[in-house]
Amino acid sequence: MIHEILPVGVLQCNCSIFGDEESREGLVVDPGDNVSDVLEIVRRHGLKVKAIVITHAHIDHIGGAQKLKQATGAPVYMNQNDIELQQMLDMQAAWLGMKPPEQVAIDATAKDGDRLVVGTTEVNVLHTPGHTQGSISLWMPSEGKLVAGDTLFRDSIGRTDLPGGDGRQILQSIHEKLLPLPPETVVIPGHGENTTIGREKRFNPFLQ
Ligand SMILES: [Zn+2]
Repeated sequence: MIHEILPVGVLQCNCSIFGDEESREGLVVDPGDNVSDVLEIVRRHGLKVKAIVITHAHIDHIGGAQKLKQATGAPVYMNQNDIELQQMLDMQAAWLGMKPPEQVAIDATAKDGDRLVVGTTEVNVLHTPGHTQGSISLWMPSEGKLVAGDTLFRDSIGRTDLPGGDGRQILQSIHEKLLPLPPETVVIPGHGENTTIGREKRFNPFLQ
C-alpha cells in the first residue's frame, strides 16, 4: 500500500497519506496544515480520498481538515469524545498565537471497534483516551502499522496536562490496546520518528 508521511504545520504533525495501488482509494490521517502539499501527494498517486481521519481534535492535527474536505469531498471521521475540544479550536489557536482555522463538520464518529476499508486494507479504530478523551489510534494488521496520534511516541507518550488529558488513562490505553499488538508493528506517532511496539515495550521510559 502507498504510504507517505508528511510533517505539517509549525508543530510538524505527521500527516499520513495512504493509498491502495489497485483501486486508488486513499485515506488521509491528521491533515493539520499544508493542505496543498497533502493534495499534491494525493494527485501524484492518482488517489481518490475516501476518508479523512482525525486522531484527536488538537489544532495541529485537525487544522487543515476543512480545506481538505472541500477539495476532496471526503467525509471526516473523529471520535465524539473530542467534540468539546474541537469547539475550543479558537482558544487552541490563541494559545499558539495562530490564526484560527475553519471549523470542520464531523461526518462520522470513529469509535472503538469501527473498521474502515481502503481498497482491500482494513483500518481498525482503537479508542485510546488519555492525551485527549477522544484520542484514537489506527491499526492496519495487513500492513503491520499503527498510526498512534499523540498517544505513543518513540521514547515518550502524549502529554496529559492539556484539557481532557489524564495521565493514568493514557497508560491504561497503551498497556491494554497498543502493547498487545505484534512487537514488529511499525508505529507512526503524531510527531517525530517512527518506532515499533517491541522497541517501545523494551525501552520507553514511561512504560517500564
Ligand atoms: Zn495532541
